[in-house]
Amino acid sequence: MKNKERHVFLECTECKNRNYTTNKRARAEFKLEKSKFCRFCRKHVTHREKKL
Ligand SMILES: [Zn+2]
Repeated sequence: MKNKERHVFLECTECKNRNYTTNKRARAEFKLEKSKFCRFCRKHVTHREKKL
């Protein structure tokens, strides 16, 4: 069994900047959503997964 991982971006839901990258297991079906600090919005904003 291959243990595939793929890179995804975490995109700010307000300014749409891709501030973070992370690894995600290919098998995981859920969408990543994380509250992270956005340096463009200068506050914590929900960041949502975007594919490369
Ligand atoms: Zn932002």
